Amino acid sequence: MKEAIAVINGGSSSIKFSLYEIGKDRRLESCCRGQIEGIGVDPNFTAKAGDGKEMGKMRWKNHPDVTHRFLLSYLIDWTSENFKDLQVKAVGHRVVHGGAHYREPVRVDEKILEHLGALAPLAPLHQPHNLAPIAAIAGLVPDVPQVACFDTAFHSTHTGPECHFALPRKLTAQGVRRYGFHGLSYEYIADRLPEYDKKAAAGRTVVLHLGSGASMCALKGGKSVASTMGFSAADGLPMGTRTGTMDPGVLLYLMQEKKMGPWEMETLLYRESGLLGVSGISNDMRVLLENESPKAMEAVDLFVYRIRKELGGFASVLEGLDAVVFTAGIGENAPEIRRRICEKFSWLGLELDDRANLGNGPRISTPGSRVSAWVIPTDEEIMIARHVLDVIGG
Ligand code: ADP
Repeated sequence: MKEAIAVINGGSSSIKFSLYEIGKDRRLESCCRGQIEGIGVDPNFTAKAGDGKEMGKMRWKNHPDVTHRFLLSYLIDWTSENFKDLQVKAVGHRVVHGGAHYREPVRVDEKILEHLGALAPLAPLHQPHNLAPIAAIAGLVPDVPQVACFDTAFHSTHTGPECHFALPRKLTAQGVRRYGFHGLSYEYIADRLPEYDKKAAAGRTVVLHLGSGASMCALKGGKSVASTMGFSAADGLPMGTRTGTMDPGVLLYLMQEKKMGPWEMETLLYRESGLLGVSGISNDMRVLLENESPKAMEAVDLFVYRIRKELGGFASVLEGLDAVVFTAGIGENAPEIRRRICEKFSWLGLELDDRANLGNGPRISTPGSRVSAWVIPTDEEIMIARHVLDVIGG
């Protein structure tokens, strides 16, 4: 029997999963990737093999009552049925918040699950949905080890002012501080960077993770020194539907004058703003780039402008810049956005190679460019699988 690692990324209405066979020399080989979407409405399961071929499909039409637990049980049965020669040795989970304590992936037991649950108020939209599959799997297959991998952990190297808000110390001590997110993606890029650019890997690099959620990370010698996201994943850049950094005065105004309560505020800040809010059209960058209306252009302009502002700030934090790396849905696939960001950094020595940029890289700066620019596809799932292997000592 061959051994495998399963990876789960649980969200409020979706469960993404991947399966990796543990090969010779602990090499991880992707056997399957899939997702269940529409949980709570119309759950829909799809899975593809490692080579991209369709492997499975299932729909529970008009079944809002199908629970996460039921779907995970379905997933476990489907995996045993379709991979009869594979034994899942452990399951890894993406968990958004590790707080100040969890700085590395950890094997989860009942007590740790309780600790992680106590962090839910710090990430109410993600943490409970990341933890629910851990509890469900523990009930279904209690002997299979489970490992939590944190989006905050890679940023635990932050020091000094990067960790603080200008708030009274008492609140900082209670955990109201900057953490940073998308850490598994940045860790993967930092791991791969030496293959592309040794100088950048050893030096000062800014990674731009531009997806539905978007953030940037400043790396010095491969270690995170700053992130645009702080206390929550709503901070920093404007995103698909999230505001990014807000003037706190606006929040006070909305509460005091517009009488908005916490849930209305949450909906506004996380679900109705960003590209969707500004354009009034879509949260999808593809749609906006194809739409010539001034509103769509304004949303894209704001996105690019705020990235440029942060990039200038990070170059200052890093005291110079050796490379920029674009990743995630927009970063990997939108040459137009990359061009509009890069062309404003010629003053720093970044010279874009237009043809390479149109071809999505990997190197998109000219050979003579003092600052190199790259497109490197991220892979948070394999990062989790590697961590699991390390934790369980496979
Ligand atoms: P997440 O994993 O956070 O849901 P992704 O990393 O998949 O997000 O990124 C989704 C974003 O990437 C969407 O805004 C989508 O429009 C954008 N995107 C994907 N492909 C392209 C493309 N070819 N051109 C422009 N944007 C794209």
